[in-house]
Amino acid sequence: MRAMVFQQPHKPLQAMDVPIPQPQSKQVLIRVEACGVCRTDLHIYEGELTHPKLPLILGHQIVGTIVQQGSDCHHFPNGQRVGVPWLGKSCGHCEYCQTNQENLCDDASYTGYQLNGGFAEYCVADEDYLFPIPEAYSPVHAAPFLCAGLIGYRTLRLAGKGQRLGFYGFGAAAHILIQIARHQEREVWAFTRPGDHQAQDFARQLGAVWAGDSHQQPEKLLDAALIFAPTGELIPLALQAVKKGGSVICAGIHMSDIPSFPYSYLYGERILRSVTNLTREDGQEFFALLQRMQIETVVNVYPLEQANEALIDLKHGKLSGSAVLKI
Ligand SMILES: [Zn+2]
Ligand SMILES: [Zn+2]
Repeated sequence: MRAMVFQQPHKPLQAMDVPIPQPQSKQVLIRVEACGVCRTDLHIYEGELTHPKLPLILGHQIVGTIVQQGSDCHHFPNGQRVGVPWLGKSCGHCEYCQTNQENLCDDASYTGYQLNGGFAEYCVADEDYLFPIPEAYSPVHAAPFLCAGLIGYRTLRLAGKGQRLGFYGFGAAAHILIQIARHQEREVWAFTRPGDHQAQDFARQLGAVWAGDSHQQPEKLLDAALIFAPTGELIPLALQAVKKGGSVICAGIHMSDIPSFPYSYLYGERILRSVTNLTREDGQEFFALLQRMQIETVVNVYPLEQANEALIDLKHGKLSGSAVLKI
């Protein structure tokens, strides 16, 4: 099969022919139709997430069709369209796995990091960690749901039920979540890199009540701030923008260091927390929601061989919405 293979940080992915993987007992073989490109792929590519399996096939927002099953698979028929997320497998018996918090498992494996991912024509995945893809969505449009959507959804859930939400960084996750927030009749205030008029216009088009630069303070304090950009400087800014008792939730897997700030920014029972991975329960809830409401993802489509170009465009903030490889 054709695959884009990562061999070492900062070295472009290489187009290669590699063997089609064989599914183990609980794995299915998936013919990949689309795979989203995520900022996490960029963090691996740039060596900020250390110790990936090498060589590695990146990509953890996979949509494809099951074509073969391991000897102990029972969940899906061949021909079923499924999505493969970042959480590829967890241990199943630690205190976290036993309490539906498998996102915190110390012995988990991640798609496109310890396990080969979807920048390829085929991949294998454990059937227990897959989600069926609703028929209303094409593979290319569904791919961003598998990370931007899912981890974004967990972020939104942890932000609580407040009415006025701030989104810091308006990329792949934010453009999905604003649709859910508006469906729930909540306000979104979009904070972007200073002067990023493209992202600000995009946020307004999708219904943000306000869009501006991240160092600006909102006219009214927010109930919660969701931080999607990997920039530690945003945390003191976001804490100053939320009201007493409000939350600041960091969605990213990697962030630059957080500058020190006065305790008064956190005082007033403000909550600062991170989101780590996803649970299967999040996924079931999120995909059930996608059946009830139609979310339009804005995608920038690249052929498999242009995975490097997609990573570069993502790095330079050139994209509105998500980058997706069409396989
Ligand atoms: Zn575990
Ligand atoms: Zn991701």
